[in-house]
Amino acid sequence: MRVAIVGAGIAGLACAQRLLDAGIPSTLFEKSRGVGGRMATRRADAKGYAIDFDHGASNFTARSEGFVRLARAWERSGIAARWPAAGADAWVGTPTMTAPMKALAEGLDVRLDSPVTALIRTGRRWTLQSEGRRLGRFDAAVIAMPAEQAAPLLSLHDFEMARAAMSVRSYPCWSAMFAFDARLEGLPDFLRGIGPIATASRESAKPGRAPGERWVVRADWSWSEAHLTDDGTRVTDLLLAEFAKATGRTLPAPVYADAQRWRFAQPSGQENRLLWNGTIRLGACGDWLHHGFAEYAWLSGHVLGAAIAAGPNP
Ligand SMILES: Cc1cc2nc3c(=O)[nH]c(=O)nc-3n(C[C@H](O)[C@H](O)[C@H](O)COP(=O)(O)OP(=O)(O)OC[C@H]3O[C@@H](n4cnc5c(N)ncnc54)[C@H](O)[C@@H]3O)c2cc1C
Repeated sequence: MRVAIVGAGIAGLACAQRLLDAGIPSTLFEKSRGVGGRMATRRADAKGYAIDFDHGASNFTARSEGFVRLARAWERSGIAARWPAAGADAWVGTPTMTAPMKALAEGLDVRLDSPVTALIRTGRRWTLQSEGRRLGRFDAAVIAMPAEQAAPLLSLHDFEMARAAMSVRSYPCWSAMFAFDARLEGLPDFLRGIGPIATASRESAKPGRAPGERWVVRADWSWSEAHLTDDGTRVTDLLLAEFAKATGRTLPAPVYADAQRWRFAQPSGQENRLLWNGTIRLGACGDWLHHGFAEYAWLSGHVLGAAIAAGPNP
């Protein structure tokens, strides 16, 4: 059996790894240029040197048995570490959040720059298409992307699955990235819930990071929604002002500033954990099927991989 997985975020990667453990090959199709989805790192250029920001998830938890085992294995390999500044059970990838995502992708067949635009069922098989280009034929298909993007693909084939996706609301988040010439003294490395700021993380204080004062400031969802259509420059200006207000200080002008709008940052979640229609061999996984956090996205992909492997399979 060959499985096609649409989306190489942590859920899609976890599903593919669980299938591989069971000896089932899969191909992941990812629309962007890298793996990891919202476990993301922005590489930027500030005055001629490269700087990194984890502008998606700032950290992740590891509480469930399987994921704790994986996080500890990443820690032994030097690609994840605990970051107590963000919480007693907070972890980060090292030297970037994408490092463990790249490790999860090792040994998998991942096709980057491959947006899937259509899923066609012919007989008992699935054909995937990208803007009219045929990507291949598969025995099973897995949709591993945010609910709002999954719903249209699911709706043509399994209305109950589409309905589950349509019942989820994903909240947006504006993430602003700032680099400063000098350290902002007297601040904790991680701030949470001050005014419209959901979190602010001193990126340079995370384990394994290059020096240089860098912050990611994430707005809460109501602020993000109110400013959803603003341009990035206006958002960096506004969030810098909010950051100054939250920290009660006048901030120096940043040497680098940019902002990323995440339209589907974190979903409301539900208790399904996974969706699998064994008759037509179509499945879905992702944080929206569980809780809007990386660990639960991994769990969703992992249990879907196990359900597919449990068969019956051709
Ligand atoms: C700003 C922000 C802050 C966060 N903070 C935290 C936090 O502190 N702790 C925590 O645990 N979690 C946090 N999260 C949530 C966490 O990042 C997610 O729960 C998790 O990464 C979801 O993984 P996923 O695989 O389900 O989805 P995604 O990571 O979204 O992966 C889906 C993938 O599908 C791809 N894709 C979409 N459409 C197509 C298509 N048509 N064809 C091909 N590929 C496609 C996307 O490019 C993406 O790579 C945060 C997220 C954001 C955005």
